[in-house]
Amino acid sequence: MRQLTFIEPGKLEWWDVPTPKIVAGTDAIVRPLAVARCDLDYSTIIGAGLQGGPFAFGHETAGEVVEVGDQVTSVKVGDKVIVPFQISCGTCDNCRQGWTNACKSVTRGAVYGMKPICGEEFGGALSEFMHVPFADHMLVPLPEEVRPEVLAGGSDNIADAWRTVAPHMERYENASVLVIGSGRGIGLYALQIAIAHGASRVVYAEIGRGGDALRMAKEMGVEVQHVPSAQDTKSLGSFNITVDSSGDMEGLKLAIRSTGSNGTCTSNSVPFDNAVPFPMTSMYTKGITFHTSRVQSRALLPQIVEEVKCGHFHPEKVTSREVPFSDAAEAMDDPAPKIVFTNDWE
Ligand SMILES: [Zn+2]
Ligand SMILES: [Zn+2]
Repeated sequence: MRQLTFIEPGKLEWWDVPTPKIVAGTDAIVRPLAVARCDLDYSTIIGAGLQGGPFAFGHETAGEVVEVGDQVTSVKVGDKVIVPFQISCGTCDNCRQGWTNACKSVTRGAVYGMKPICGEEFGGALSEFMHVPFADHMLVPLPEEVRPEVLAGGSDNIADAWRTVAPHMERYENASVLVIGSGRGIGLYALQIAIAHGASRVVYAEIGRGGDALRMAKEMGVEVQHVPSAQDTKSLGSFNITVDSSGDMEGLKLAIRSTGSNGTCTSNSVPFDNAVPFPMTSMYTKGITFHTSRVQSRALLPQIVEEVKCGHFHPEKVTSREVPFSDAAEAMDDPAPKIVFTNDWE
């Protein structure tokens, strides 16, 4: 089958690889119908993310079940499903607590499309087929009324944005939300979630050059701020909920400086460095709660799917462009905030 393979920054190749097969009775085979480009895929292709090719590429997907093992009961051939990017079993101690980012039954960090994270190749989403273990637990049904293109990103980036805002809204009366983005999809999803959850004020700030994402945020009706230098900006105000998706240490510090008393700051930037200085004194004084972790995408997906199904939350407003699978290699480095690939192979 065809598999998009990452070789090195700037270089993707279509490889012919063996088609995955059912190995255990709990497995399923899924044919990807739509694959969203993760913000990390973009960083990787431009040389600012993962290294260590060759590996199968793409990990945010919604597809169709084409084969199931004899022990699978919750999905059947023909069902449309979302495939979480992290592989988890659903039955170990950690999975039972919703910590599906730390499943004890698989290699630590087991994921699709990002072999360097876990050291093991599980295949990628920009392929004709994907092998899905623990199918009864892993596969999340996609409602008929929702296009696969809308929720392919639910596998990862949509869930990653949802957890920065939605779980914290109840803590605050008329919550205000600040998102510091980097021109990519995650920050824009966080805005959509803040709007959907009734935030009283939503501000999108972007550091540096400023591009399409600022325009898209403005079209969503939120306040936008272009920040030429995070270091030279004292604060962007005093917000109940702040989100650092800037991918930048100075952006993180600006998010913390802009968090109000007893506020909540979440960072889903991935610092590839353990030595990150933190303004602990002001965090202590203001009583700021700080969150960071890999997302629990499987655990969060059912609620996210429900919000999209009932028309509450609109992830499709973040899609800048839909591109056929066949053109995925050429389009991967398009600087647009979010690209969704659609299966044009029949
Ligand atoms: Zn990702
Ligand atoms: Zn598990």
